[in-house]
Amino acid sequence: MPNTTSILDTARHQVLEDGIGLDQSQLIEILNLPDEDIPALMELAHQVRLKWCGEEIEVEGIISLKTGGCPEDCHFCSQSGLFESPVRSVWLDIEQLVEAAKQTAKSGATEFCIVAAVKGPDDKLMNQLEEAVAAIQREVDIEVAASVGSLTPEQVTRLARAGVHRYNHNLETARSFFPEVVTTHTWEERRETLRLVAEAGMEVCSGGILGMGETLEQRAEFAVQLAELNPTEVPINFLDPRPGTPFADRPLMESEDALRAIGAFRLAMPHTMIRFAGGRELTLGAEGSEQGLLGGINAIIVGNYLTTLGRPMEDDLEMMDRLQLPLKVLNKVI
Ligand code: SF4
Repeated sequence: MPNTTSILDTARHQVLEDGIGLDQSQLIEILNLPDEDIPALMELAHQVRLKWCGEEIEVEGIISLKTGGCPEDCHFCSQSGLFESPVRSVWLDIEQLVEAAKQTAKSGATEFCIVAAVKGPDDKLMNQLEEAVAAIQREVDIEVAASVGSLTPEQVTRLARAGVHRYNHNLETARSFFPEVVTTHTWEERRETLRLVAEAGMEVCSGGILGMGETLEQRAEFAVQLAELNPTEVPINFLDPRPGTPFADRPLMESEDALRAIGAFRLAMPHTMIRFAGGRELTLGAEGSEQGLLGGINAIIVGNYLTTLGRPMEDDLEMMDRLQLPLKVLNKVI
Protein backbone atom coordinates (compact mmCIF):
# COMPACT_ATOMS: atom_id res chain seq x y z
CA MET A 1 0.00 0.00 0.00
CA PRO A 2 1.49 3.39 -0.91
CA ASN A 3 2.59 5.59 1.93
CA THR A 4 0.18 8.43 1.06
CA THR A 5 -2.84 6.21 1.59
CA SER A 6 -1.57 4.99 4.89
CA ILE A 7 -1.09 8.42 6.48
CA LEU A 8 -4.69 9.37 5.68
CA ASP A 9 -5.85 6.01 7.03
CA THR A 10 -3.80 6.52 10.17
CA ALA A 11 -5.27 10.01 10.58
CA ARG A 12 -8.77 8.63 10.17
CA HIS A 13 -8.28 6.29 13.13
CA GLN A 14 -6.13 8.48 15.31
CA VAL A 15 -7.71 11.90 14.76
CA LEU A 16 -11.24 11.35 13.50
CA GLU A 17 -12.11 8.40 15.68
CA ASP A 18 -9.96 9.02 18.76
CA GLY A 19 -9.49 12.81 18.69
CA ILE A 20 -5.70 12.59 19.06
CA GLY A 21 -3.71 15.08 16.95
CA LEU A 22 -0.99 13.94 14.57
CA ASP A 23 2.65 14.30 15.65
CA GLN A 24 5.40 16.10 13.78
CA SER A 25 6.57 13.21 11.60
CA GLN A 26 2.98 12.37 10.67
CA LEU A 27 2.33 16.01 9.77
CA ILE A 28 5.38 16.06 7.52
CA GLU A 29 3.78 13.17 5.62
CA ILE A 30 0.54 15.15 5.29
CA LEU A 31 2.42 18.21 4.03
CA ASN A 32 4.11 16.01 1.40
CA LEU A 33 0.91 14.46 0.07
CA PRO A 34 0.61 14.68 -3.74
CA ASP A 35 -1.88 17.16 -5.21
CA GLU A 36 -4.30 14.39 -6.15
CA ASP A 37 -4.72 13.50 -2.47
CA ILE A 38 -5.71 17.04 -1.45
CA PRO A 39 -9.48 16.47 -1.88
CA ALA A 40 -9.30 13.38 0.38
CA LEU A 41 -7.26 15.36 2.92
CA MET A 42 -9.78 18.23 2.88
CA GLU A 43 -12.68 15.82 3.29
CA LEU A 44 -11.03 14.11 6.26
CA ALA A 45 -10.14 17.47 7.85
CA HIS A 46 -13.77 18.58 7.43
CA GLN A 47 -15.07 15.41 9.08
CA VAL A 48 -12.63 15.92 11.94
CA ARG A 49 -13.77 19.47 12.57
CA LEU A 50 -17.47 18.51 12.37
CA LYS A 51 -16.97 15.68 14.82
CA TRP A 52 -14.75 17.46 17.37
CA CYS A 53 -15.76 21.14 16.99
CA GLY A 54 -19.29 21.04 15.62
CA GLU A 55 -20.96 22.61 12.63
CA GLU A 56 -20.76 26.27 13.46
CA ILE A 57 -18.40 28.89 12.06
CA GLU A 58 -17.28 31.63 14.45
CA VAL A 59 -17.20 35.10 12.95
CA GLU A 60 -14.88 37.74 14.36
CA GLY A 61 -14.26 41.39 13.65
CA ILE A 62 -10.97 43.07 14.49
CA ILE A 63 -10.21 46.70 15.10
CA SER A 64 -6.87 48.36 15.48
CA LEU A 65 -6.73 50.66 18.49
CA LYS A 66 -3.20 51.72 17.59
CA THR A 67 -1.85 51.12 14.10
CA GLY A 68 1.75 51.41 12.90
CA GLY A 69 4.91 52.71 14.54
CA CYS A 70 5.74 49.46 16.34
CA PRO A 71 9.34 49.24 17.64
CA GLU A 72 9.67 45.53 16.74
CA ASP A 73 11.10 44.18 13.48
CA CYS A 74 8.80 41.28 12.49
CA HIS A 75 9.92 40.99 8.86
CA PHE A 76 6.44 40.40 7.46
CA CYS A 77 4.78 43.33 9.21
CA SER A 78 4.02 46.70 7.66
CA GLN A 79 3.26 48.13 11.12
CA SER A 80 6.88 48.04 12.18
CA GLY A 81 8.27 51.55 12.56
CA LEU A 82 11.68 50.18 11.54
CA PHE A 83 10.82 49.66 7.85
CA GLU A 84 9.85 51.97 5.04
CA SER A 85 6.31 50.61 4.90
CA PRO A 86 3.46 53.01 4.19
CA VAL A 87 1.36 52.31 7.31
CA ARG A 88 0.93 55.47 9.42
CA SER A 89 0.65 55.56 13.18
CA VAL A 90 -3.04 56.07 14.11
CA TRP A 91 -4.94 55.89 17.44
CA LEU A 92 -8.69 55.35 17.76
CA ASP A 93 -10.78 56.68 20.62
CA ILE A 94 -13.31 54.81 22.78
CA GLU A 95 -16.31 56.09 20.85
CA GLN A 96 -14.86 54.79 17.58
CA LEU A 97 -14.17 51.40 19.16
CA VAL A 98 -17.73 51.09 20.46
CA GLU A 99 -19.12 52.04 17.06
CA ALA A 100 -16.88 49.43 15.36
CA ALA A 101 -18.06 46.80 17.86
CA LYS A 102 -21.70 47.64 17.04
CA GLN A 103 -21.07 47.31 13.31
CA THR A 104 -19.24 44.02 13.87
CA ALA A 105 -22.11 42.61 15.98
CA LYS A 106 -24.58 43.53 13.23
CA SER A 107 -22.72 41.26 10.81
CA GLY A 108 -23.49 38.26 13.03
CA ALA A 109 -20.02 38.21 14.60
CA THR A 110 -19.77 36.98 18.20
CA GLU A 111 -16.19 38.08 18.74
CA PHE A 112 -14.59 41.52 18.61
CA CYS A 113 -10.83 41.73 18.96
CA ILE A 114 -9.05 44.97 19.87
CA VAL A 115 -5.53 45.01 18.50
CA ALA A 116 -2.59 47.37 18.96
CA ALA A 117 0.77 47.44 17.17
CA VAL A 118 3.06 47.50 20.18
CA LYS A 119 5.70 45.31 21.78
CA GLY A 120 3.55 45.37 24.90
CA PRO A 121 1.03 47.82 26.37
CA ASP A 122 2.11 50.90 28.39
CA ASP A 123 -0.13 52.42 31.04
CA LYS A 124 -1.92 54.68 28.57
CA LEU A 125 -2.86 51.70 26.40
CA MET A 126 -3.87 49.54 29.37
CA ASN A 127 -6.17 52.29 30.69
CA GLN A 128 -7.69 52.87 27.30
CA LEU A 129 -8.24 49.16 26.78
CA GLU A 130 -9.94 48.72 30.15
CA GLU A 131 -12.20 51.67 29.40
CA ALA A 132 -13.00 50.36 25.92
CA VAL A 133 -13.85 46.85 27.13
CA ALA A 134 -16.19 48.27 29.79
CA ALA A 135 -17.90 50.59 27.27
CA ILE A 136 -18.35 47.80 24.70
CA GLN A 137 -19.73 45.42 27.31
CA ARG A 138 -22.25 48.07 28.39
CA GLU A 139 -23.48 48.80 24.88
CA VAL A 140 -22.87 45.79 22.60
CA ASP A 141 -23.78 42.11 22.75
CA ILE A 142 -20.41 40.68 21.76
CA GLU A 143 -17.41 38.95 23.36
CA VAL A 144 -14.29 41.09 23.60
CA ALA A 145 -10.81 39.75 22.88
CA ALA A 146 -7.52 41.64 22.83
CA SER A 147 -4.12 41.48 21.16
CA VAL A 148 -1.68 44.06 22.48
CA GLY A 149 1.66 42.24 22.53
CA SER A 150 3.70 40.76 25.36
CA LEU A 151 2.22 41.12 28.83
CA THR A 152 3.54 41.24 32.38
CA PRO A 153 1.78 39.11 35.01
CA GLU A 154 0.09 42.27 36.38
CA GLN A 155 -1.18 43.25 32.95
CA VAL A 156 -2.58 39.76 32.38
CA THR A 157 -4.49 40.04 35.65
CA ARG A 158 -5.83 43.48 34.75
CA LEU A 159 -7.08 42.33 31.34
CA ALA A 160 -8.73 39.22 32.77
CA ARG A 161 -10.45 41.37 35.42
CA ALA A 162 -11.55 43.87 32.78
CA GLY A 163 -13.46 41.09 31.04
CA VAL A 164 -11.19 40.24 28.12
CA HIS A 165 -12.21 36.63 27.57
CA ARG A 166 -9.65 35.65 24.91
CA TYR A 167 -6.12 36.91 24.30
CA ASN A 168 -4.30 36.69 20.98
CA HIS A 169 -0.53 36.54 20.80
CA ASN A 170 0.82 34.71 17.79
CA LEU A 171 3.87 32.48 18.02
CA GLU A 172 4.11 33.52 14.34
CA THR A 173 6.21 30.56 13.16
CA ALA A 174 8.21 27.53 14.28
CA ARG A 175 10.68 28.11 17.07
CA SER A 176 13.54 27.05 14.79
CA PHE A 177 12.58 29.60 12.10
CA PHE A 178 11.66 32.51 14.37
CA PRO A 179 15.15 34.13 14.46
CA GLU A 180 14.93 34.59 10.67
CA VAL A 181 11.66 36.47 11.08
CA VAL A 182 12.13 38.57 14.23
CA THR A 183 15.33 39.76 15.91
CA THR A 184 14.00 42.25 18.49
CA HIS A 185 12.38 39.69 20.77
CA THR A 186 12.33 35.91 21.19
CA TRP A 187 9.87 33.12 20.51
CA GLU A 188 10.20 32.17 24.17
CA GLU A 189 9.02 35.64 25.25
CA ARG A 190 5.91 35.13 23.16
CA ARG A 191 5.26 31.70 24.64
CA GLU A 192 5.69 33.08 28.18
CA THR A 193 2.88 35.59 27.63
CA LEU A 194 0.65 32.76 26.41
CA ARG A 195 1.48 30.74 29.54
CA LEU A 196 0.42 33.67 31.73
CA VAL A 197 -2.79 34.15 29.72
CA ALA A 198 -3.78 30.50 30.18
CA GLU A 199 -2.90 30.65 33.87
CA ALA A 200 -5.21 33.65 34.32
CA GLY A 201 -8.10 31.71 32.81
CA MET A 202 -8.37 33.63 29.55
CA GLU A 203 -8.77 31.66 26.34
CA VAL A 204 -5.51 31.34 24.41
CA CYS A 205 -5.51 32.43 20.77
CA SER A 206 -2.23 31.90 18.96
CA GLY A 207 -1.30 31.26 15.37
CA GLY A 208 0.95 32.79 12.81
CA ILE A 209 1.91 33.24 9.21
CA LEU A 210 2.62 30.48 6.74
CA GLY A 211 4.68 30.85 3.57
CA MET A 212 7.44 33.05 5.00
CA GLY A 213 10.19 30.70 3.77
CA GLU A 214 9.88 28.00 6.43
CA THR A 215 10.49 24.40 5.32
CA LEU A 216 7.73 21.80 5.41
CA GLU A 217 9.45 20.30 8.45
CA GLN A 218 9.26 23.68 10.17
CA ARG A 219 5.61 24.04 9.20
CA ALA A 220 4.94 20.70 10.92
CA GLU A 221 7.07 21.78 13.89
CA PHE A 222 4.99 24.96 14.18
CA ALA A 223 1.69 23.05 14.17
CA VAL A 224 2.94 20.82 16.98
CA GLN A 225 4.23 23.77 19.01
CA LEU A 226 0.85 25.45 18.70
CA ALA A 227 -0.94 22.24 19.67
CA GLU A 228 1.18 22.11 22.85
CA LEU A 229 -0.42 25.40 23.95
CA ASN A 230 -3.84 23.74 23.88
CA PRO A 231 -5.22 26.90 22.28
CA THR A 232 -8.90 27.76 21.94
CA GLU A 233 -8.15 29.40 18.61
CA VAL A 234 -5.40 29.34 15.99
CA PRO A 235 -5.53 32.10 13.36
CA ILE A 236 -3.76 31.13 10.15
CA ASN A 237 -2.37 33.86 7.92
CA PHE A 238 -0.65 33.37 4.58
CA LEU A 239 2.19 35.74 3.80
CA ASP A 240 0.97 38.78 1.90
CA PRO A 241 4.35 40.36 1.06
CA ARG A 242 3.98 44.01 2.02
CA PRO A 243 5.94 46.74 0.25
CA GLY A 244 8.80 48.13 2.32
CA THR A 245 9.12 45.08 4.60
CA PRO A 246 12.11 42.70 4.46
CA PHE A 247 9.75 40.00 3.10
CA ALA A 248 8.39 42.24 0.32
CA ASP A 249 9.93 40.04 -2.39
CA ARG A 250 9.01 36.65 -0.97
CA PRO A 251 6.81 34.63 -3.35
CA LEU A 252 3.19 33.92 -2.49
CA MET A 253 2.53 30.48 -1.06
CA GLU A 254 1.15 28.02 -3.62
CA SER A 255 -2.55 27.41 -3.03
CA GLU A 256 -2.04 23.62 -2.93
CA ASP A 257 0.55 24.07 -0.17
CA ALA A 258 -1.87 26.32 1.70
CA LEU A 259 -4.61 23.66 1.51
CA ARG A 260 -2.21 20.93 2.67
CA ALA A 261 -1.22 23.21 5.58
CA ILE A 262 -4.87 23.81 6.54
CA GLY A 263 -5.49 20.07 6.52
CA ALA A 264 -2.34 19.44 8.54
CA PHE A 265 -3.22 22.06 11.17
CA ARG A 266 -6.69 20.56 11.58
CA LEU A 267 -5.22 17.08 11.95
CA ALA A 268 -2.70 18.40 14.50
CA MET A 269 -5.43 20.17 16.52
CA PRO A 270 -8.78 18.39 16.16
CA HIS A 271 -10.46 20.32 19.02
CA THR A 272 -9.18 23.83 18.25
CA MET A 273 -10.96 26.62 16.42
CA ILE A 274 -8.88 27.26 13.30
CA ARG A 275 -9.47 30.67 11.82
CA PHE A 276 -8.80 32.04 8.36
CA ALA A 277 -7.01 35.34 9.00
CA GLY A 278 -4.99 37.48 6.56
CA GLY A 279 -3.71 36.65 3.09
CA ARG A 280 -6.29 34.02 2.14
CA GLU A 281 -7.73 36.03 -0.79
CA LEU A 282 -4.30 36.31 -2.41
CA THR A 283 -3.13 32.79 -1.72
CA LEU A 284 -6.35 30.84 -2.13
CA GLY A 285 -8.83 33.07 -3.96
CA ALA A 286 -12.57 32.53 -3.54
CA GLU A 287 -12.51 28.89 -4.62
CA GLY A 288 -9.63 27.96 -2.32
CA SER A 289 -11.31 29.80 0.55
CA GLU A 290 -14.39 27.62 0.07
CA GLN A 291 -12.19 24.51 0.01
CA GLY A 292 -10.63 25.64 3.28
CA LEU A 293 -14.01 26.19 4.93
CA LEU A 294 -14.95 22.67 3.87
CA GLY A 295 -11.51 21.37 4.83
CA GLY A 296 -10.95 22.06 8.51
CA ILE A 297 -11.39 25.83 8.96
CA ASN A 298 -14.19 26.82 11.36
CA ALA A 299 -13.76 30.52 11.97
CA ILE A 300 -13.21 33.63 9.87
CA ILE A 301 -12.40 37.29 10.26
CA VAL A 302 -14.88 39.43 8.40
CA GLY A 303 -14.16 42.76 6.78
CA ASN A 304 -10.75 44.31 6.59
CA TYR A 305 -7.60 43.04 8.22
CA LEU A 306 -5.18 45.18 10.15
CA THR A 307 -3.16 46.61 7.30
CA THR A 308 -4.67 45.16 4.14
CA LEU A 309 -8.13 45.04 2.66
CA GLY A 310 -9.93 41.74 2.85
CA ARG A 311 -13.14 40.93 1.01
CA PRO A 312 -16.31 42.84 1.77
CA MET A 313 -18.07 41.39 4.82
CA GLU A 314 -21.20 40.61 2.75
CA ASP A 315 -19.21 38.38 0.36
CA ASP A 316 -17.96 36.22 3.22
CA LEU A 317 -21.37 35.95 4.85
CA GLU A 318 -22.91 35.06 1.50
CA MET A 319 -20.24 32.40 0.97
CA MET A 320 -21.09 30.75 4.29
CA ASP A 321 -24.75 30.86 3.45
CA ARG A 322 -24.07 29.21 0.12
CA LEU A 323 -21.93 26.50 1.74
CA GLN A 324 -24.71 26.04 4.31
CA LEU A 325 -22.33 26.64 7.18
CA PRO A 326 -24.25 27.91 10.21
CA LEU A 327 -22.80 30.84 12.18
CA LYS A 328 -22.08 30.50 15.86
CA VAL A 329 -24.60 32.40 17.96
CA LEU A 330 -23.53 34.29 21.08
CA ASN A 331 -25.87 32.59 23.52
CA LYS A 332 -24.52 29.23 22.45
CA VAL A 333 -20.98 30.13 23.51
CA ILE A 334 -19.94 27.67 26.19
S1 SF4 B 1 3.82 41.78 14.23
FE1 SF4 B 1 3.20 42.98 16.05
S2 SF4 B 1 5.12 43.13 17.27
FE2 SF4 B 1 5.73 42.57 15.19
S3 SF4 B 1 6.17 44.53 14.14
FE3 SF4 B 1 4.02 43.99 13.68
S4 SF4 B 1 2.82 45.04 15.25
FE4 SF4 B 1 4.95 45.00 15.97
